[in-house]
Amino acid sequence: MTHKLTRRDFLDGMALTIAAGLAPCEQLAQGLLSAPYPPVLTGLRGQHDGSFEAAHGMAFERRRYRVGRLPVAEEYDCIVVGGGISGLAAAWFYRERFGRDARILVLDNHDDFGGHARRNEFTVGDRTLIGYGGSESLQSPATNFSPVVKGLMKRLGVDVERFRRYFDQALYPGLGLSRASFFDRDRFGVNRLVTGDPTDWVADDIPRDRRNGRPIEPFIGDFPLPSAARRQLEQLYASKRVTLAHLADDAARADYLAHVSYVEFLRKDWGLCDDAIAYFGGRTLDFFGLPPNLVPALDASLFAYPGFAGISLPPDEAAAAELDEPYIYHFPDGNASVARLLVRSLVPSAIPGSTMDDIVLARARYEELDRPQHKARIRLDSTVVRVVNGAAGVEVGYLRNHDRVLHRLRSRHVVMACFNTLIPYVTGGLSDDQAGALRLNVKSPLVYSKVLARNWTPWVELGVHEIYGVASHHSRVKLDYPVAMGGYRNPTRPEEPMVLHLVHVPTVPGIDEPRSALRASRGLLLQATFADHETAIRRDLSRMLGPGGFDDQRDILALTVNRWSHGYAWGLNTLVDDEGEAKAAMKLARQPVGNVTIANSDAGWSAYAHAAIEQAHRAVNELRES
Ligand SMILES: Cc1cc2nc3c(=O)[nH]c(=O)nc-3n(C[C@H](O)[C@H](O)[C@H](O)COP(=O)(O)OP(=O)(O)OC[C@H]3O[C@@H](n4cnc5c(N)ncnc54)[C@H](O)[C@@H]3O)c2cc1C
Repeated sequence: MTHKLTRRDFLDGMALTIAAGLAPCEQLAQGLLSAPYPPVLTGLRGQHDGSFEAAHGMAFERRRYRVGRLPVAEEYDCIVVGGGISGLAAAWFYRERFGRDARILVLDNHDDFGGHARRNEFTVGDRTLIGYGGSESLQSPATNFSPVVKGLMKRLGVDVERFRRYFDQALYPGLGLSRASFFDRDRFGVNRLVTGDPTDWVADDIPRDRRNGRPIEPFIGDFPLPSAARRQLEQLYASKRVTLAHLADDAARADYLAHVSYVEFLRKDWGLCDDAIAYFGGRTLDFFGLPPNLVPALDASLFAYPGFAGISLPPDEAAAAELDEPYIYHFPDGNASVARLLVRSLVPSAIPGSTMDDIVLARARYEELDRPQHKARIRLDSTVVRVVNGAAGVEVGYLRNHDRVLHRLRSRHVVMACFNTLIPYVTGGLSDDQAGALRLNVKSPLVYSKVLARNWTPWVELGVHEIYGVASHHSRVKLDYPVAMGGYRNPTRPEEPMVLHLVHVPTVPGIDEPRSALRASRGLLLQATFADHETAIRRDLSRMLGPGGFDDQRDILALTVNRWSHGYAWGLNTLVDDEGEAKAAMKLARQPVGNVTIANSDAGWSAYAHAAIEQAHRAVNELRES
């Protein structure tokens, strides 16, 4: 019989075994548990139940809040809406610009700070394993980080060069492990793990010469596909047959590729059959958050997808960096450490320590985040429902999620570092055009599940460290990034417990318009329960790793499903966006409204931590002095 793991089973790691028989709230009341520590919560996390209902009420039921009749409970110099990296950075930049006496409040609707940059922790025996629940690595800092981002990192004590020592790029290659593709029997008639992938992947932490890849022909030769499809794939990877030489020059070729999807390109220009195209079904999901029929072929060309070796195209420095700079800029909890460093700078008593190393094991004291005596405060569990410029300042209304009580605040300035699509429902005084421009920023839904596994011997048995699920529920399944720093030690021996990383991107077939497709996928994701996720996790891991000795009943010790219904910020999609119009819309969307300015990575149409920081900096600089 399957024992269904529930959030309760794993609440606070070992807590339920300490005082068996008592509900957690009773334990809290009796002092047996300390204040809630969200990183250890398992079950359905990320954009968790209870955090988004107020926002959905405004978006779907047209619910509106008036706060004018309530007394003003508190006054601030700056209220920041959203406690992700952008909101926390905005609070930090505000203090830089307006001085350390500025009174700042950050409001966020979750029970943890960091937005997408979220920490997951697991306890097994006397050991703590740390994982990243969302935003995972700093992306190509040498190329992508502007002076503003570099400056903030320096002030937070982050020296990205140190990751070269902390990230063990040799661990998995040294054990003979490779990347594999997995074909599942529902789609391909047989479960088959094909190891030894020699091909390029974007954001690859494994050096090219350490992939343990096989030559491309035997690798593809093992795919359970008809022989004609395998031959086509071999050609696609190995030949330069398609050149698009009939198009006038590099610019014309780029223009053509910008307006066909990768699937269309494979079908029309390479003549690939459906069975061969099926190999790419899940390949774009993790990085782009979209299936390959909604990804422009030009974007695929920039990020190491096959078929472009013979085609001359204009160089793209930023994209080249994503392939060439090592993908190693990773704290054990991902970019949650950036959020935690910001929180420590804003509210020093909340997180002890002073370096990028000691942040890793420092335990955050959530009860310190919102103390009246602190100049900067962070208030969780609070959904902002009304922001309107008034004669005496900006009026801000927020609902406390747990009791649905409405509060009124006033602030000289407000920075909206929340999802940009929500801003029109909340903010007074927007023009219809600006509201329309903000609504273009449809975020892609995705799920990062973390599985605490008893050990990783099945992976070594099978010779893999990462699996591409061609048509599986999870398109990516991998061992954790091997990073040791600040006293934290990653598992290095296969007998040790390991946090597995599983990526699921919901898709609804048959929708050709990317924004509509993302909305439909979000609907699908919101219907899925924790039990649905758990079933899919057990099934995929058993199919992929079962032949290596994996037994889901025995080997899964805990599960945290980080659901990001609103995940990556929208990025320019040339299948539907005109580049010039998109730039104009982006600028219009983030126009200040009186003393309210707009941040978040959404405001840069760029799903990166560095974009979140840059947008925060701009939004703070746009605030008026008077
Ligand atoms: C699964 C995943 C993986 C990613 N991986 C990477 C990566 O490897 N590298 C990288 O650079 N980037 C990555 N990203 C992109 C990520 O979005 C950025 O790195 C960054 O974390 C975005 O920060 P933000 O503050 O702009 O937005 P968010 O993190 O979304 O923060 C906004 C916050 O505002 C809150 N909010 C919204 N409305 C309200 C309201 N009305 N009231 C109060 N609060 C509100 C939101 O709930 C949220 O907590 C990833 C994103 C996801 C989802």
